[in-house]
Amino acid sequence: MMRLWKILKKYWQRRKYKTLAHIHLVGNQIRVEASSKCQLKCPLCLTGTHYHRKHSVVGWGHLSFENFKRLIEQNPSIKHIELSNYGELFLNPALLKIMAYAHEHNIRLSAINGVNLNDVKEEVLEGLVKYQFFKLKVSIDGASQATYQQYRVGGDFNQVIANIKKINAYKQQYKSRYPKLKWQFIIFGHNEHELPLAKQMAKKLNMGFKAKLNYSPKKFPIKNAAFVKKETGLSAAYIDEYEKEKKQLYSPACLQLWTAPQVNWDGKLLGCCVNHFGDFGNVFEEGLSSLLQSEKYLYAKQMVLGEQPTRADIPCTQCKRLKRVVKTDLRKQLIEVIEKT
Ligand code: SF4
Repeated sequence: MMRLWKILKKYWQRRKYKTLAHIHLVGNQIRVEASSKCQLKCPLCLTGTHYHRKHSVVGWGHLSFENFKRLIEQNPSIKHIELSNYGELFLNPALLKIMAYAHEHNIRLSAINGVNLNDVKEEVLEGLVKYQFFKLKVSIDGASQATYQQYRVGGDFNQVIANIKKINAYKQQYKSRYPKLKWQFIIFGHNEHELPLAKQMAKKLNMGFKAKLNYSPKKFPIKNAAFVKKETGLSAAYIDEYEKEKKQLYSPACLQLWTAPQVNWDGKLLGCCVNHFGDFGNVFEEGLSSLLQSEKYLYAKQMVLGEQPTRADIPCTQCKRLKRVVKTDLRKQLIEVIEKT
């Protein structure tokens, strides 16, 4: 209670916020999807199966350079932008211009949600280093083409590794630490045996390594939970096991409503990276700041904190995570995040 009071006092002095839900942006980060298109056909992905293209508010398109530039001009306090979400960042034809402009304006760009890195032009690979792209997480669920292609359908393992080597060569040429590279490995029954080899390869490629639990254990069950736990250092091999044990969400996306609101490629404010059910208005037309302070956005935050019941016009009402979210102590997690900023 004391910690909450301290936070509200600090924010009250700045902006007269009344409750945690009223704090509209913690830090100086937003998420803007650079491209919702993807060339791969990953079977669990709503993009790869073309669900978003046909049925959701995410749609199918690229962020334009003009909209990116205007967004930065209108929101000078934003210093960090996450560009990846549902699609493949590198399919955006304006990416090089976006990176150059962000670098010139001291905006840090990252792709921590993940990229497949299959099709990248040479000048873009160089641009990642030249324009000091901050962090890049590459989704590689296997350590060989035979295993990789079972989930990353249409992907070319050797091409991805070749692109990583080219980035590393540019890092040497420019004597740069950036982008920091991470290998993300989603664990399935068909690839778990390659965890040790993937970790070794990541180390040789000067990459960090992150093993991620898969969201559909019924479709893609793992085979040896003890081996997976040993290899990953995780105490759980399944997401529900993790959430039961830790009493918190495996991936607490709802916090992004405060810490890194998600904007779709066409300007729709989605709030978090999971939401594809509806939007909170268009930031390119109505402005980011005014939408973050809108009644609808405030109500969504109150809903995920368990302070308001569901309401038909709020996208979170359709989200399967909501029931799990209100059972966890999101307020405590949010307070911890605010204290760190
Ligand atoms: S309830 Fe779902 S849609 Fe709403 S903020 Fe949380 S993860 Fe996003």
